[in-house]
This record gives sequence, C-alpha cells and structure tokens, in this order.
Amino acid sequence: MPPSCPRCRLPLRAEAGVDLCDQCGGVWFDRGELEAAIEAAPPQGAVPAARPEPAVRYLPCPRCTTLMNRKAYERISGVTLDHCNAHGVWLDAGELDRILAFEAGDGRERLAIKLTDEARLDRERQRDASQRWARIRAGLESY
Ligand SMILES: [Zn+2]
Ligand SMILES: [Zn+2]
Repeated sequence: MPPSCPRCRLPLRAEAGVDLCDQCGGVWFDRGELEAAIEAAPPQGAVPAARPEPAVRYLPCPRCTTLMNRKAYERISGVTLDHCNAHGVWLDAGELDRILAFEAGDGRERLAIKLTDEARLDRERQRDASQRWARIRAGLESY
C-alpha cells in the first residue's frame, strides 16, 4: 500500500525519491532523505515568507500511522517538522524551501550567534549563583 498524506489521507505520489501530496503540497522524506536533499540542494535565493502553520495537530506517520512528534528545525528557522523516529519526516508545503533557505543563507550563522549568547548567559548565571552562595557563606560566618 502506498503511503498516504497525513493531512489529506490521499495516496502520496513517489517523485525523485520522495513522496509528494498533490493536494496540499506536503512532502514525505524517509529517514535520512531530508539531510541528503539539503546536501544536494542548489544555492537558494531569498527566504520565502513564512506561511501560517496549519492548525497544530499531531499527524500520523505515512508509514506506520503512529502520531508523529513535532520538532522545531534548528530552533530559529521558524519551521516545525512532524517526524517519526523510525521512518522519516513530513514537511508541509513551503517548509522545504524555508529549510533550504535557512541552510543556504545566514541561518547557520545566526544559530551559532544565538548558541554563543546562550552559553554566555549560562556562564553569567552560574557566576551570579556562586557569588550569591559566597555571600550567604560570608553572612553565616559572621554568626
Ligand atoms: Zn496532502
Ligand atoms: Zn513511522
């Protein structure tokens, strides 16, 4: 039985190694295929405007029909993927373009900056906490 679209329930059409839904424009990538597609993608132009996410709803995996997990793609890309740990990942229409634009543009750079900022904040928070602890100790010693 061919896999069917988790949104429209129509059979997906196999095309160039992925499975497409002609109705909603979603794409199913078997495990590892998305990474391969990103690797092979030609350079992208401008980032397509974010489309409103369809109503949040857990979708069934086209392969095993278990409800998929929702997971942000690299956190700042603005794309939320539906993925089945065992089988692969579902992208709604337009999400692949946004992922490719993220990968090709300055997305990686922005992510690195964000992670560096977060690490710095963490260190500052730890330092604050240890200074506070030192003050508490000093306070206790005066008794
Ligand atoms: Zn569909
Ligand atoms: Zn599955």
